[in-house]
Amino acid sequence: MGKKGREIVGEFADELVSMLNRALADEWLAYYQYWVGAKVVMGPMKGEVAAELIEHATDELRHADMLVNRILQLGGTPLLNPKDWFDQTNCGYDPPEDPFVRKILEQNIAGEQCAIDTYNKIQELTRERDPVTYSMVVQILQDEVEHEEDLQSLLEDLNNLRFLRG
Ligand code: FE
Ligand code: FE
Ligand code: MG
Repeated sequence: MGKKGREIVGEFADELVSMLNRALADEWLAYYQYWVGAKVVMGPMKGEVAAELIEHATDELRHADMLVNRILQLGGTPLLNPKDWFDQTNCGYDPPEDPFVRKILEQNIAGEQCAIDTYNKIQELTRERDPVTYSMVVQILQDEVEHEEDLQSLLEDLNNLRFLRG
């Protein structure tokens, strides 16, 4: 823990660590939902969709890495046990039990919408109080906005396939 680095955040550091740990739980669950979704996905455009899901899984893991680094800088302890993920998560986990491409896209769009809400709240809470966390969260938020857009445009392409059949 960097002493001065934590000092500038002041009293807010502990509350911030809890918030970042909840986001960390979300990122791991999102990572697995994308990763396993890419394995089981079935239906039209499944190759293209799986490639996007794998790309997003990689991004979620990178977000987890960023969050842990910041938690450590703040003198906190990152969640050490995967059992805690379900207790701490904001956005939950939606198992891809129906592997049809449309259903998987819809589940992950809902997940991204929750992630956008979560990071938008953290962004608001840190803007005046912790510029370092704020700038990291804005970067993550940009990715989540892009993720939602990518999945929604795949869903639109899927919906447009019916026009090919005439
Ligand atoms: Fe993420
Ligand atoms: Fe995402
Ligand atoms: Mg993408």
